[in-house]
Amino acid sequence: MKRKALNIALSGVLLSSGLAFGTVDSVSANGPNYNGNETIKNERLHSYSEMVKLLERVDQKSENLTLEVYGQSVKDRDLYLAKFGENEDNPTILFLTQQHGNETLTTEAALKMVQYLSTDSNEVQQILDNVNVLIAPRLNVDGAEGDVNFSLDDYVSGTHTRYNANGVDLNRDHVDREQPETKALHENVLAKYMPDYMIDFHHQGTQVTKGEDGPLVSGSILHPTNEDVDSEVLEKSKQLGVIVYDAVESKGYGTLSKYPGGNANTISRNGLANEYGISTLLFEMRGMADHYREDYVLGQKSNGKLIQQGVVTMKATLKAIADGSIDNADTSFWDTLTGSYYHGEE
Ligand SMILES: [Zn+2]
Repeated sequence: MKRKALNIALSGVLLSSGLAFGTVDSVSANGPNYNGNETIKNERLHSYSEMVKLLERVDQKSENLTLEVYGQSVKDRDLYLAKFGENEDNPTILFLTQQHGNETLTTEAALKMVQYLSTDSNEVQQILDNVNVLIAPRLNVDGAEGDVNFSLDDYVSGTHTRYNANGVDLNRDHVDREQPETKALHENVLAKYMPDYMIDFHHQGTQVTKGEDGPLVSGSILHPTNEDVDSEVLEKSKQLGVIVYDAVESKGYGTLSKYPGGNANTISRNGLANEYGISTLLFEMRGMADHYREDYVLGQKSNGKLIQQGVVTMKATLKAIADGSIDNADTSFWDTLTGSYYHGEE
């Protein structure tokens, strides 16, 4: 097992967030897993330069897309925002991905959505006539390149890290905004466009089941949990969760649990709901591209369906906001949604 000091800190975070731990053996046969048996091929994912090329190519081709640079990372990489629709009377949703650089498939899904929304199908037109869509792919561009001011020698793949170049967890920097990535997101995206909704896309460990005895989950979701969040903002966050849950559960490959997240405002799910009145949803997909913990790393065998899960999630929410059906979503399912159970090592 490859370990370093950060491991201890992270385990502490997981324990304090309410995750329970058991043995890995009971679930390891249920799905594709790293387990040292599979080569990690992260080069199949979009590198930073490939992502920028894709965004610029789509921007040149499509009238729907307006591409904006909203800031720079520690290592001076441009941060991109893809904007679709600019009708002030319409609700606005933000899809944010990869605050953690090793949580890659979320961005792959976002890039597929950029391409989808750039087509001129009736389906897309129906969405963009009724919703403004902001896609901020890969906030942590340096961590995703492994271009950071600390060593990744003890990572499984050595290519991606959760932290930004300064070793900071960007999703704990939403109050202080000491890092250029979070500062730019707040000043040039959140305060500027004031989204009504946001889905914050992440990845979690591989050994999460639905309750202690349930199946491995393809993801976990959670609404804001800070006690100060306005009740209407919270209700709309829960409605966002209903749409996502129904969309994913209707697919054969997907099942979701309730994520055991913390209440701090430093986390975007809570902080953005409080500061801007944005209705937020956290979506944690299964497995990571790289980590110093082997039980967090997922091989590429399930990449396709996990990316598709992200696309399904985004499309379903856009449709539900566009046709107004989200406003009728019954949020009582949250009361019975089974919680996550983590079977990895402590
Ligand atoms: Zn994350």
